[in-house]
Amino acid sequence: MKKYLIIMLASLSIYLVSNDQIIFAKDVEKIGYLVIERPHTLEKIKDFPKLPYRSGVGRPEGVILHSTGENDKTLEEWISYEEKTWENAFVHAFVDDRKAVEIADPNYLCWGAGKVANPRYVQVELVEFPDGTSKIKMMQSIEQYAHYIARVLKQFNIGKPTLADEINGIGTIITHNSVSKYLGGTTHTDPYNYLPKNGFSIKYVFSRINYYYYSI
Ligand SMILES: [Zn+2]
Repeated sequence: MKKYLIIMLASLSIYLVSNDQIIFAKDVEKIGYLVIERPHTLEKIKDFPKLPYRSGVGRPEGVILHSTGENDKTLEEWISYEEKTWENAFVHAFVDDRKAVEIADPNYLCWGAGKVANPRYVQVELVEFPDGTSKIKMMQSIEQYAHYIARVLKQFNIGKPTLADEINGIGTIITHNSVSKYLGGTTHTDPYNYLPKNGFSIKYVFSRINYYYYSI
């Protein structure tokens, strides 16, 4: 009986990751479970400048949600790119469907969203996938994204997720688009350029952040 159950579970997993037409929003809890079981890769690959947030070292006030803005690079290629161009801009972490990779120490600020926001927030990039990528792969990348963001909120005792996009720019979670709109110092509109057209609202991402925040 036990053996039979294990075989059933194994085949369910294969089914979940191979049939994106059927498994979508209604089975998100199952997808989330699959993703959270995977260990995160946290590797500081470069000695970026160590500048304190405006409230001090180790005192970020929230997390900025980015997406890469171009869909032609892998996570590894984005990291290589940032290693070469960090003097212009760098973020703390990248996520795709497989992992979150932290490249800069989030105890210190990064340079990803202009001079007003940089001294306030941890910043993470969702790697954009090319058109035609399966929904399940996109969904798994959002799970990694949400899990990483929830973990940062906990790690730095920032407090529960609140969506600044809906509260005039004030909250623990803010998109780069809302930094442009409410704080200034930047003009980018990500991740709105990417997520909605692929069927994922910012509210959906926020709901997944909440899910992990209250379950990890
Ligand atoms: Zn951005």
